[in-house]
Amino acid sequence: MQAHEQILKDVNAFCEKLRPTEDVCYLEHRYNDQIIPLASEFDILGLPVPEEFGGRGASNRTYVRAIERIGMEGSGVRSVFSVHSSLAQKTLVRFGTDAQKEKYLRPSAKGKVIFAFALTEPDAGSNPQEMKTTFKEDGGSYLLNGTKYLITNAGIADAAIVFAKAAGGAMSAFLVDMKTEGIEKEDLVSKMGTPTTNTGMFELASCRIPKENLVGKEGAGWEIAKQALVDGRMSVAAGCVGSIRDCLAEAVAYSKERTQYGKPIAKHQLIQEHIAAIKLHLDSSKMMVRRATAFREKWDQSPSDRELLSKADLAVAEAKLFCANAACDAADRAVQVLGGRGWSYLYRPGRHLVDNRVCRIYEGADEILKLKIASGVLGESYRAFS
Ligand SMILES: Cc1cc2nc3c(=O)[nH]c(=O)nc-3n(C[C@H](O)[C@H](O)[C@H](O)COP(=O)(O)OP(=O)(O)OC[C@H]3O[C@@H](n4cnc5c(N)ncnc54)[C@H](O)[C@@H]3O)c2cc1C
Repeated sequence: MQAHEQILKDVNAFCEKLRPTEDVCYLEHRYNDQIIPLASEFDILGLPVPEEFGGRGASNRTYVRAIERIGMEGSGVRSVFSVHSSLAQKTLVRFGTDAQKEKYLRPSAKGKVIFAFALTEPDAGSNPQEMKTTFKEDGGSYLLNGTKYLITNAGIADAAIVFAKAAGGAMSAFLVDMKTEGIEKEDLVSKMGTPTTNTGMFELASCRIPKENLVGKEGAGWEIAKQALVDGRMSVAAGCVGSIRDCLAEAVAYSKERTQYGKPIAKHQLIQEHIAAIKLHLDSSKMMVRRATAFREKWDQSPSDRELLSKADLAVAEAKLFCANAACDAADRAVQVLGGRGWSYLYRPGRHLVDNRVCRIYEGADEILKLKIASGVLGESYRAFS
């Protein structure tokens, strides 16, 4: 069997085995502690990590297909992979030293190290450049101080890629062991959706980070973050495709089974309008993701080519904006097809409706991506932000 097919088979087996526990945890609004052990069991926690570092070496294409499948289980489960693999592992593959790859990347591919990616702060969201977390050199190591907010996996991660600024200077990225003295975590318990996965904040109070844990060069943090977001956004877009596919399957199955006015509701024309709209969302979102993947692959072939990076960045931004909005509308329509039963967490459309909403906020809110796309059309001098 081809590696590509085996990866997709393993991802599918993981999703099928996870679903019963996910159903229960969602209803009880609690963290699903089976996600990581099951993902380890099926060896899917290092999908994009090269085989030489213990991963599965998935191509961009295969990885995107895997994330689409995981997205069917919900944006919450998918976000664990978006952060651990798309944002963190891919960043280490690109910028990590050999020693960092041995110490963090290799165990992460087997689920022995789970990653978070900490850019956002209470006063720095859409514009991470406004961050207040600082670093300074002190006796051969770095001291980090600040607060990271709204961080996926914060409460369960073993290590995080943390961004901080030198006083009055540029941003740098650090690999931070989450057991380091001076780190205090707090879960975000009041969030609207994705209850089965972890989101939290943490404070860094004079956290001492070894010099060898600097990722890339000092001052390269913003470039590292921007490149990471290309892959992060791609995973959000791909996950939305999966969510739309699941909404379509649920709406079709229910509409054929449920009868009103003496026939299956699937025979009522206005229900068919919802089905047609969801199908269009699925097909168009898939095309946007395939297109973005093609740009992403071209950039991979020539990683230092700024023009290819810029094209991939724009295509991915378009896909993420488009797919996130399509996924919200698809879930809304699927809920409508299910009628009163749709307005319940017992059925997945209702969960997708709540969970997909955050896809329009994180990794570049709709407004930020629109501005980015517009300046891509209008030209650099019309760029609304750096
Ligand atoms: C569940 C969840 C998980 C997350 N996980 C992570 C994570 O793992 N790591 C991480 O670093 N971050 C994470 N985030 C943070 C996320 O990336 C930010 O919430 C997002 O970037 C928006 O920042 P903000 O919430 O501060 O909103 P703000 O930046 O305050 O924006 C508020 C509103 O103003 C709009 N706005 C801002 N600037 C402009 C402008 N120039 N023009 C027009 N409109 C503008 C925005 O689009 C938005 O609608 C997560 C967030 C959530 C909700």
